Amino acid sequence: MMRNAVPPVPAYIATLEPYKSGRSMTKGNAWIFMDSGECTAPLPYSVDLQTGINRYPDPTGDTLRDAIASTYGLKRENVFLGCGIDEVLDRAITTFSPPGGKLLSFEPTFPPYRIFGQTQGRTYISVPLTPDFGLQEEAAIAAARSADIVFICSPNNPTGTVLDPGVITKIIDAAPGLVVIDEAYGEFCELQNLPVQIDSVRTGAKNVLVTRTFSKAYAAAGIRLGYGLASTEIIGELLKTKLPYNVNALSQSIGCSLLEGRSAMEENVRALLKSRALLAKGCKELGCTVSRSVTHFFLLQLPERYSAGNFYQFLRNTYRIAVRPFGIINGKESLRVSTGTDEQNNLFLKALSAFLSSKSL
Ligand code: PMP
Repeated sequence: MMRNAVPPVPAYIATLEPYKSGRSMTKGNAWIFMDSGECTAPLPYSVDLQTGINRYPDPTGDTLRDAIASTYGLKRENVFLGCGIDEVLDRAITTFSPPGGKLLSFEPTFPPYRIFGQTQGRTYISVPLTPDFGLQEEAAIAAARSADIVFICSPNNPTGTVLDPGVITKIIDAAPGLVVIDEAYGEFCELQNLPVQIDSVRTGAKNVLVTRTFSKAYAAAGIRLGYGLASTEIIGELLKTKLPYNVNALSQSIGCSLLEGRSAMEENVRALLKSRALLAKGCKELGCTVSRSVTHFFLLQLPERYSAGNFYQFLRNTYRIAVRPFGIINGKESLRVSTGTDEQNNLFLKALSAFLSSKSL
């Protein structure tokens, strides 16, 4: 007889909810996507189909690793490829923290540090950022001393703000475990001459893993390609827990092509920064508070008496514009807004103005 019982799952899985990304809340094409920090159009790229998809891809993607390494003056052995930064983070948790181990981050920040940890049965703790989204130096360093992995997101998501590199260095010095510096938006810093942490990998830091992605500045979120840069020892450990063929052949090929066209990426970043500055300025002129972002998104808080939750619904229902709700931050409901095209940004500002001037909302 067929057994009619659902198999048990560990308690730490049973209590989880499936992760809701921007794209799972807003499916289909009938939306203006200003919710997920994507770009509105891909950059020029080519894909080499000649090797054929009948063969497995290079398991470690060495051609792409070499291309990434030479971009940063590193070696192939300093580069680990993943199915997005998401996978690099997940592998880092598997590799550098034991079951039940402790993960630390600084909130508000990218929720997957907590979520990926919980799906692997790790304990997650967080230290709040200051009201202007800086690190609380003493508390951050003290907490880092007892964590297996510290996640530092700079520029931070959802604020787009950078964290103090001096404090980051102190955390790196104090932490006995792995320090992940998530630089998903690192190219935005590089093009504005803001500090990034790849230098600490270059100068031989043994406990730092810097993560980067093709999803943002390279406008290629759809190929799911990210990477980690670290000491050869860290990369060597990550390679032990990697799934055999985690990055497919097409993504490897497109990644190489995008790196060759690096100047298109740089132009993209400059255009995004201009567009974000205009959009943020428009929001401020309407009386809103916006975070001091160095990226192509920012955190938006409406003037005192307005509900961001209502504005979120109004945007969706009336304008088909999707943004990302981020709960209460500094005592105020907050939305993360990513820049769209000029036309989309103007529509967003029109919607904001209509919402703020409507007595009934
Ligand atoms: N880290 C941060 C800070 C992010 O904002 C994102 C994407 N939202 C990721 C990592 C994940 O990037 P990927 O698309 O490469 O998985």
